[in-house]
Amino acid sequence: MVKKLYFLPAGSCFLDQSAVNKNLPSGKLVEMPVWCFLLETKDGPVLVDSGMPDCFVNNPDYYKGTRREGRLVPNMTENDRIENILKVIGYDINDIQIVISSHLHLDHAGGNGHFKKAPIIIQKTEFEFAIGNDEYSPFECRIPDLNYKLIEGDYELAPGIQILHTPGHSPGHQSVLVRTEQTGYVLLTVDVAYNREIFYNDIPFLSSDTELASKSISNMKKLVQDIKPEVIFFGHDAEQAKNWHTLYPNFL
Ligand SMILES: [Zn+2]
Repeated sequence: MVKKLYFLPAGSCFLDQSAVNKNLPSGKLVEMPVWCFLLETKDGPVLVDSGMPDCFVNNPDYYKGTRREGRLVPNMTENDRIENILKVIGYDINDIQIVISSHLHLDHAGGNGHFKKAPIIIQKTEFEFAIGNDEYSPFECRIPDLNYKLIEGDYELAPGIQILHTPGHSPGHQSVLVRTEQTGYVLLTVDVAYNREIFYNDIPFLSSDTELASKSISNMKKLVQDIKPEVIFFGHDAEQAKNWHTLYPNFL
């Protein structure tokens, strides 16, 4: 069982609304809170996702002059670097025993390069798709000397930490089901659905495979019915991010 689960805010980015809801026209940006999570276990801390890359710090113009200009605007300060996020809860990069990488997009795996020793757990399909693919930024996934541990399908990492293969948003996306000593289940959906609305209303959003994405959402909904998690935490839900302290007083 996981001793403690930390929700760690990691800045935000602004994304074109058509990526959050394919039914909406492009041209308007919406803010997407970014998250990492730390799980304290008897074998040391496990990190879920590593936030955005350091090159985004104080650099909203990062994508100026690229095809992403006006569609993706990073909003990251010095405090949102994974090093500094961990410092706030008393941890150092080198303390982290294992990194679970939900997928290799730049708002989830941007800090992976800081972890030179810890195994980075990633779905094989995600890793193979990302390598050499210009859709993925080099800061996340083209670092050859990291200690990747490739898995295929669902995987129980430790008691209380279930990795769930939820492809669709990206080819090897994974979610994490956590059970802590003091609480019931916490489902970290990550980007199986950016937010509650997408999850419950099946709104099409940015995905590498729309059909797979909605299949993964319906699998997660079944799981939710079966185990009734105490918390379902979405990858980029602005409402949830605004109120998370009051919504989940049992968590830090
Ligand atoms: Zn994301």
